Order: sequence, then C-alpha cells, then structure tokens
Amino acid sequence: MKKYIIALDAGTTSIRAMLFDIAEKRFALTAQQEVEQSFPQSGWVEQDADEIYYKAAYVLNRCVSVAGAEHVAGIGLANQRETVVLWNRETGEPIAPAIVWQCRRTSEFCASVPKEMRQKIAEKTGLPVDAYFSASKIKWILDNVPAARTLLQAGKLCAGTVDSYLIFKLTGRFVTDYTNASRTMLFNIHTLDWDEELLSYFGVPREILPDVKPCDAVMGEVETGGGKIPLAGVAGDQQAALFGQACLKEGDGKITYGTGLFLLFNTGERCVTTQCGLITTVGYSLGKKVTYALEGSAFNAGSCVQWLRDGLGLISTSAESEQLAVSVPDTGGVRFVPAFTGLGAPHWNSEARGMLAGITRGTTKAHIVRAVLESIAFCARELTDCMQTDSGICLREIKCDGGASANDFLMQFQADVLGIAVNRPSERESTALGAALLCGIALGLFGESEISSSRKAERIFTPAKDRSQQEKWYAEYLKAVKRALMS
Ligand code: ADP
Repeated sequence: MKKYIIALDAGTTSIRAMLFDIAEKRFALTAQQEVEQSFPQSGWVEQDADEIYYKAAYVLNRCVSVAGAEHVAGIGLANQRETVVLWNRETGEPIAPAIVWQCRRTSEFCASVPKEMRQKIAEKTGLPVDAYFSASKIKWILDNVPAARTLLQAGKLCAGTVDSYLIFKLTGRFVTDYTNASRTMLFNIHTLDWDEELLSYFGVPREILPDVKPCDAVMGEVETGGGKIPLAGVAGDQQAALFGQACLKEGDGKITYGTGLFLLFNTGERCVTTQCGLITTVGYSLGKKVTYALEGSAFNAGSCVQWLRDGLGLISTSAESEQLAVSVPDTGGVRFVPAFTGLGAPHWNSEARGMLAGITRGTTKAHIVRAVLESIAFCARELTDCMQTDSGICLREIKCDGGASANDFLMQFQADVLGIAVNRPSERESTALGAALLCGIALGLFGESEISSSRKAERIFTPAKDRSQQEKWYAEYLKAVKRALMS
C-alpha cells in the first residue's frame, strides 16, 4: 500500500523534500538543505547546478529512507523559475554556473531588442522583454562559454530550467512542463510549443531544449535503493502554489507573502493580455487542458519586515511587527513606500527608492512599523486593481500563504483594503502541496474535485463594512508612491 507522495520544492535559497500523507492529505516530514548563491559581479547572480542536484538528491533520499521506497507512490516537483542550466547530455555535467532568475547580466541586450520584436514576444509568450526570463540567459552562455559551441556541434548540449535539469539527473529524461517553459520567453503559450521565430531570434537551436509536457505528466522514474519511484507532477513554484491553494476556477487568486509578494489570478482558458505590466502565464495544465493566469509581483514585502528587524532594529522578531502595529489606531499620517530595489508592476521603475513620508515629532516606532505593514497590503491592492481592470473579472476572495501571511493584522488590513475576504489555509506550504497534488493527479490517486475539497481554511478575514478610512489611506499611499517615482 502506497502511503506517501514526496513533494520536492527546489527553491532559490533552499531545497526541501516533504513527505505527503495521501490519506490524511497533510505533510508528515520535511528534509531541508540551504543552497548557496554567488554574486561574481555587480548585478550577477549564479548558483552551482551540481549543488542543486546533490542537495535535491540528499533531501529526497532522506524522505525515501524514512518512508521506505515501497510506501512512496511518486515524487512531485516545484522549482524556482527562469534560472538556466546548460549541461553535457552524455555526462550530465553542467558546463557553466546556473544563471539565476535575479541575474541582470543580460539587461543591456534586452534593452536593445527592437519595439516590433518586443511586441511579437509579448503576443507569443505573454512576457515583457527582460533579463529576468531564460532566453537571454541561454543566449549569454551560448555566446560566452566555449564548451557550449563544442558540445552543440557534437549534438551533446542540453539547455533547460531547474526542473528539467533535476528531472534529467534524477530520471535520465530530458523534459520540462508547460509552466516552466512559459517563463523562458521561447515558448509560445498559445500553440504550446517552442516558437521557431523566437528560437532563431535568440539563437537557441530547438534540439538543445527539452520536450514540453503537461504538469500532470509522468516525467520519468527515479532509481532509489529500494526500487523505482515515478517522478510525476511538475510546476514552477508560484504556479504550484496557485494549484496548491485550489485556485481552479476563473477569478480565483492567491497572494504569496514571502520575501517578495506574488499575486496569481486564474483567468481560465482565456489568455488575458495586460496594459499595466502584468505577466500572462500558464497557470497549470491537466493533460492538454491549459489554465492561464495573470501574475503580478512586488519585489519587497516580507523583506520590509526583515529591514525593520535587521536594518532598523525596531523589532526583534518578524512576529513582533503585529503587536506594535495594533498598539496604535493608525500610522499617525506616516506612509512608507517599499521601493528598496525599485517598483514593479504597475510602475516598472527600477530607479525609484524607498520612502518614509509624513513623519512628525509625534511619530513612534509603532507608527513606522504599522506604515510598513500597511504598504504591503497597498502594493497588493495596486496589483489586484490592475488585474481586475485588464481581465474584467471580479475577485471574489483572495487566498494567502507565505511567511508574512502569519500576521493577523496584515491579513485583516489586506481584507479591508481589497474589500474582499482573505482566506488563510490550514496548510500554508502551498508550493509543496501543489507539487504533491499534481503528482497525485498524474498517478490517478485523486481527481481534480478532491483538490478543492481537501483545502481547509484556517481563518477567513472578512472586510470591514465601512472602508472609507482605508480608501483615504490608500489615496495617501498612492501620493507617496508618486513622490518616490520622482526620486
Ligand atoms: P521566502 O519563501 O521568500 O524565503 P517565506 O514565505 O519563508 O519567504 O517568508 C519569509 C518572510 O516573511 C520574511 O521576510 C519575514 O520577515 C516575513 N515574516 C515571517 N513572519 C512574519 C510575521 N509574523 N509578520 C510579518 N512578516 C513575517
């Protein structure tokens, strides 16, 4: 009797394997390893792909040995997106450090892409041209690492995202899934295939890219000491969280409050294009049926709370921010703009910097802490306003997860600012849960209907009846943003 699924969550800063109890639909054990990042030049971010694989294999083995291979039905995978690895097809050895999604080394090239091409890329991939996505990173390695050319000519080169590298190393198969492919800027999200025109523009030959499969495909088999285990069910981390939060209907959305803030919003079978810098992406696919999503992100959310703790020393734990925020009735007119590294959607301004406005002699640390938490909720409001305008879909409620979703004040304030309920699940590891559920579906262990019924709300924050005060505060925040954009 198979009792468990293993969810492998290959994040940017850590890799975790979690044992998911199929009958109880909850996690029973977590094994975790931190992953190093290196910053060889200003704006460059790299990782050692070998380290990613060894640590993934280590945490997987840990779960397998605790559970017993005979009790593990399958392994589901969620991963950091856009990061690029190129490797030798024969040996599996990476030919260069992985270029991480945050890496800006190809910004100049991206800025040089002509307007007509940008438009084509947006239409085909749903993405704005930016160094963030994989295409220009693959091009950089092809242009700058001599081994790439040699292996290419010998027909031995593979290029892929972290999912395809891990699947290759673990199973020997060279595949990726639609969600990860949709972040490469080489994948046509309408035809669900690599796009010839984009491949030739970026100089990436089709034969070095993996086959693209639905999220619920069986990707291969992992050999373990106790026998073979299928690797089935794969999605990029934010998409896995969307699935794990059971956002399965058009208009369902989730916000992850981690270091940054990620909003994903299910737009059903419609591929909604956006006027204000949101990304159109594959949300998930079950078989050939693709569900699309709109995605908006703010670079800084939980990181602002870390700054209060480590930068300013105003709090000693992140959780303390809540006690201070509720100790005052409002911010006393203080407004904070969380633009440490510029502002994302809908402003897309990398020059803007953070700002504290409206400070008086009466300002206390409680006011500042509260202003910081409120600013996180206002960022989410800007994103949801854009999404609703662009899609014409009305959000009914928002599901939340991530570290800062533990903050009751922030979640209540978020409900008040959005005017809709904020629904916090009892299982907040949505990314790993999404990978486990996709794996269960791939193996026929449960159906789509069971995904919704297995999600339990831990608490629902309902919006205040009179929200005029919050609207006034939001207007003050937008005024502060305008000033930050002038800096
Ligand atoms: P990531 O996956 O991006 O590393 P997590 O989802 O683990 O992030 O969330 C960590 C972030 O959440 C940190 O930036 C931390 O400051 C913030 N955080 C954790 N607990 C709280 C809290 N109670 N109130 C506000 N922020 C919190």
